[in-house]
Amino acid sequence: MVAGEVEETLVELARVVIAGGAVAHMAGVTTSTAVTAPVVRRVALSVPERRGLAPLDRYARYLEKGVARLAGYVEATRGCLHTCRHCPVVPIYNGRFFAVPAELVMADIRQQVAAGAEHITFGDPDFLNGPGHAMKIVRQLHAEFPLVTFDFTTKVEHVLEHAALMPELAACGATFAVSAFEATSNLVLARLHKGHTVADMGAALKVLRQVGIAPQPTWMPFTPWTSLEDYLDLLLWIREQDLIAHVPGVQLSIRMLVPPDSALLAEAETAAWLGELDARNFTYRWAHADPRMDALHAEVTRLAELADDEDPYGAFAVIEAAAYFVAGRRPPPAMVPVGAVAPPRLSEHWFC
Ligand code: SF4
Repeated sequence: MVAGEVEETLVELARVVIAGGAVAHMAGVTTSTAVTAPVVRRVALSVPERRGLAPLDRYARYLEKGVARLAGYVEATRGCLHTCRHCPVVPIYNGRFFAVPAELVMADIRQQVAAGAEHITFGDPDFLNGPGHAMKIVRQLHAEFPLVTFDFTTKVEHVLEHAALMPELAACGATFAVSAFEATSNLVLARLHKGHTVADMGAALKVLRQVGIAPQPTWMPFTPWTSLEDYLDLLLWIREQDLIAHVPGVQLSIRMLVPPDSALLAEAETAAWLGELDARNFTYRWAHADPRMDALHAEVTRLAELADDEDPYGAFAVIEAAAYFVAGRRPPPAMVPVGAVAPPRLSEHWFC
């Protein structure tokens, strides 16, 4: 396994493999017999070489108003300034992030637009960790390609902190923003060190919607601290905030991962829920104190796999019915979309 700032390590790894050398104990390379620290320092970067990769039409497309367009992908930064306890970025970067030089990002955008991309996904863990850097790139993107749209990922805290930047992001072509809302319980959000509250989530939705950037909240509904009542509250909140079309079924099935070196392992009360390491799947096992939650997770996962991507209301209704059934309660009447236009998104849903 190679993690962190991988480029120089990958080049060295290729050299060693081609020369028939031993890779165990190579700096930055973890094997089944030797664990080494990931490389977390600035490395020399160049414009990604995309010849030899599959053409853009083999990747996820950008969907807006019933039209599918080719989409490109770049990262303006790697790592993250924040240390949310459950996040798999944290064991590697532990609160650090590195900016990719703007001229390299733009050069990569140019080659993807030349290959047909009409939309760019900024795949940074958090695009607004470096707001000055982000704005420099989107201004240039818009100046060179005024018809190219983009999406980005950022945390609730940053939507609020940088609310003044949102009109310009929208004017430069931002059509949707992914944001890890995670939960509608302040207690769970505090456990995860998310840095936001449920009230902040409502405020962030307002900021994004005011400028026409469609919110795409992501969730982690299954944690050791999330009760069945919390799960029902989450569904209700999504209804009340008119977010059903913005939340694919898979997002309602996400279960907390605990990778090796997860910041969660430093928490005092892990003994109550933590199981053994499942090395093959690179996560610790854990079980909920309420077995109904693990059963509900299995059922929601099954329903999400069957869900029709074109019918988020239908998917939401069956998942809602399953959750209320487990709670022994009658679900509210299914929501029916009234003239709702599907929000812009990629053709493959993001989740981790
Ligand atoms: S969840 Fe998002 S904001 Fe938090 S550490 Fe991970 S990437 Fe950063």
